Amino acid sequence: MKIAFKKLGSQPLHFEANSDNTFFSGDIILKKSNLAQLNGTITGSISIPCDLCAEEVERSLNEEITFYLSDGIFEGNDDELDVVEIDNSMVDLDELLKSEIELIKSDYFCCKNCEGTSLDREF
Ligand SMILES: [Zn+2]
Repeated sequence: MKIAFKKLGSQPLHFEANSDNTFFSGDIILKKSNLAQLNGTITGSISIPCDLCAEEVERSLNEEITFYLSDGIFEGNDDELDVVEIDNSMVDLDELLKSEIELIKSDYFCCKNCEGTSLDREF
């Protein structure tokens, strides 16, 4: 699903996207002329390899996500904002979902079999 940035307004615009077994839904609301805030939730499940034994494990998701979308280069100076710059004035929810999933996958993760093992190794 793609939404043209110019369609965003002060009323929250609902969106939905899905990829494999994940589902992303929420609202986008315009904050300034070229800055919008996205509030969404990712649910479903992903298959993710254990960092210790590399076994693929199904992990269920329920992630609340908030970030800002900038139409073009973000020129604000608020370093605390988590801003995603979008291309061509189109918000591509499928792309955003994919990159969020990549982020989740890059987190440390270990399967049930390995839980606790990492602690033994570290101490
Ligand atoms: Zn494991």
